[in-house]
Amino acid sequence: MNERRRGEVASPCILKDMNKTTQDSAQPETKAEIAQEFKAAFDLVSPFIEKHTSIVCPDCEKVCCIDKHGRYDENDLAFLNALGAKTHHDLPDREETDPCRFLNEKGCSLARWERPFRCTQFFCNPLLKSLENDNAKLYRTFVEYLQYLISVRQRLLDEAGE
Ligand code: SF4
Ligand code: SF4
Repeated sequence: MNERRRGEVASPCILKDMNKTTQDSAQPETKAEIAQEFKAAFDLVSPFIEKHTSIVCPDCEKVCCIDKHGRYDENDLAFLNALGAKTHHDLPDREETDPCRFLNEKGCSLARWERPFRCTQFFCNPLLKSLENDNAKLYRTFVEYLQYLISVRQRLLDEAGE
């Protein structure tokens, strides 16, 4: 199994229109409001991803959740700070290749919105295949939700950068 390359953009077949903005969403005025919208948008994509990680991941021979991938980058922190959410990324004596600080025997201990965004953005090949082989309508809806999630994140980053 491939190591999860979290810094990379997810598979193009899922994200080929990832820059497309969702036209019909209301435009919140503040960073905190956009952050709330972003947080809520994770709930749209998470069930479909979880459905397929529960199928694929138990048989994985090289679990991708190493500590390097569980560390927040500055964009993750901008989002969490806008929510006033507590971050907990100070864990000493942990190597990049150690199991992720947030991994426990049941899997990731964080809600999806609390995770570094790369954890939601990356799909290994077996996971991607499993998603694509689901019902076509469900898969299309998932892709639309994912595009929406990414577009809200971009709005948040644009707002944070102003
Ligand atoms: S997403 Fe699941 S199957 Fe894919 S590399 Fe990570 S643990 Fe393995
Ligand atoms: S935060 Fe969760 S999903 Fe991300 S690498 Fe760590 S255990 Fe895996």
